[in-house]
Amino acid sequence: MTRPAITEIRPHIRDYAELTSLEVELAKDRGSLLVLPVGACEQHGDGLPLGTDNIRADHVAHAVVEQLAGGAQGQAGRAFVLPSIDYGVSPHHRFLPGTINIGPQLFIDLITSIAHQLADAGFAKLLVITGHGGNLASLGVAQQSLLETHPDFVFAYAPVSALAPESTAALPRTEVSGHCGESETSQMLAIDAHLVDTDHLSPGATRLDDLDPRARLSRTKSPSTAVTFDRYADNGVLGDPRTATAAAGEGILGEVISVLVSYCQELQKL
Ligand SMILES: [Zn+2]
Repeated sequence: MTRPAITEIRPHIRDYAELTSLEVELAKDRGSLLVLPVGACEQHGDGLPLGTDNIRADHVAHAVVEQLAGGAQGQAGRAFVLPSIDYGVSPHHRFLPGTINIGPQLFIDLITSIAHQLADAGFAKLLVITGHGGNLASLGVAQQSLLETHPDFVFAYAPVSALAPESTAALPRTEVSGHCGESETSQMLAIDAHLVDTDHLSPGATRLDDLDPRARLSRTKSPSTAVTFDRYADNGVLGDPRTATAAAGEGILGEVISVLVSYCQELQKL
């Protein structure tokens, strides 16, 4: 049976899962970039939803792909958002309500299985965007493993919040800040304020001196140690999310998206 040939992917398509079989072949032949949002299903304090990290990663992934589609590259420069992975590596949150931790090995296996199949199908470039910092070490392992099995496949991965140092520095952050804090809450207010239970936003750990000695030592980036987040604060929050604003979140997300669009434009030239 002769397969019909097409010469164009429908221009409004942004999601890999919305491509047809004919379109996905064309996307592959034209060297399309694929973007995989990953997050976590884990406690995000009393004011943010459990899916905060995939919601932010998915938002950024779609914004990046949208901006790339609006660029001058046309069909040759297309990028598509893969179905997201909404579970992640969250053992450090497992004593607080709502966390579903799939652990590092399963996460690495999921990422490498997806990447292997895309590479074997003929795709050449994948960017993983993780809204959850706890996935970064496993993404590094996946990257090394892919260099062994598929050295020609370009596997990139990026965090979200950490790509916005300028906007983050402008926030009124407490000495201890991070998970469900000023930055993350601002981003969620910018994406969809209805997702934030503002009446229940409350501070968690805000001062190093309030932490127990092991928790305090874990805030030193290098050398690195880890503790479960219930040791930082009963509500699992680092920082004071009550100062978060949608405007600050727009600034942070805008900085992240701009960095990633520039990076993807370089990826697309490879
Ligand atoms: Zn988070």
